[in-house]
Amino acid sequence: MNDKPLPLLNDACLPFQIEGQDIKGRVLRLGPSVHEILSSHNYPDHINKILGQTLALTALLGSLMKYDGIFTTQLKGGGLLRLMVADFSKDRNSGNTDAKGTIRGYAGFEEGTTSNDKLDELFGEDAYLAITIDQGKFMERYQGIVSLEGENLTQAAEEYFQSSEQLPTKVMIECEKDKHGHWQAGAIMIQHLARNTELELARDEENTHDNWQTASILLSSLKLSELLDKNISLQQLLIRLYHETGIRIFDHIDLAAGCRCSEEKIRTVLSSLDLEELKEVAEDGTVTVTCDFCTKDHKFELTKLLH
Ligand SMILES: [Zn+2]
Repeated sequence: MNDKPLPLLNDACLPFQIEGQDIKGRVLRLGPSVHEILSSHNYPDHINKILGQTLALTALLGSLMKYDGIFTTQLKGGGLLRLMVADFSKDRNSGNTDAKGTIRGYAGFEEGTTSNDKLDELFGEDAYLAITIDQGKFMERYQGIVSLEGENLTQAAEEYFQSSEQLPTKVMIECEKDKHGHWQAGAIMIQHLARNTELELARDEENTHDNWQTASILLSSLKLSELLDKNISLQQLLIRLYHETGIRIFDHIDLAAGCRCSEEKIRTVLSSLDLEELKEVAEDGTVTVTCDFCTKDHKFELTKLLH
């Protein structure tokens, strides 16, 4: 043991496993990253809160990807809140071997939402939660879609795991502004991994069940305020929760806000449009494309787009 203080890890995800059990989990906290993203948009606080939670869920699940790639969460519906998108990407191929996981997100909504509205009410009928995992050439693209159920994102996420992955999963997600006006988010999940063989399952089903119950009860003893409390490190939080069962904590994954929009990609799209279409969107000879994710304006001179 050394006496070095535990790093606070305010923008990081920390994977763990309950010692000797088939229960894995991860916990994360978003500080400056979520604040940067939410501050770049001009959304009401109750929309920011849901977007912050969506970012936390996305980073929590995205950092599970085995290979570098892009993990996207989309919530869509026909209600006053139409759209919530967040993605997580990691690209060590860019030459930076310890590249951080980067997150970004935005929302689409109409006037009239309030902080009292429940998630399923906001998204209205026929709403769904879609998760897409694209790990490039390494693995086939995956998409899971379930109907959006639940009053909040925690319930919607558990519903997703229940119907899509069929692995028992417990999740807690929160996003709040602290007393200094800084947004912060936190999320934690535990998941019971599928057993390898029927025989294994039959042999210790009862034990397995009890272990899962215990781990779930311990998780639900965690207060949302503790999940967000920057004075408690993620490691301390896990040790407090699972010191009796024993816990193994793995290397953390650093997270940061970041956007992948590029002038070059937008130029390619614009160049594929014909002159009339370009003229329609141009103002004073300039076409401006605003990135939905980071709100950056990309400007192009009309004459330079023509070929
Ligand atoms: Zn952007």
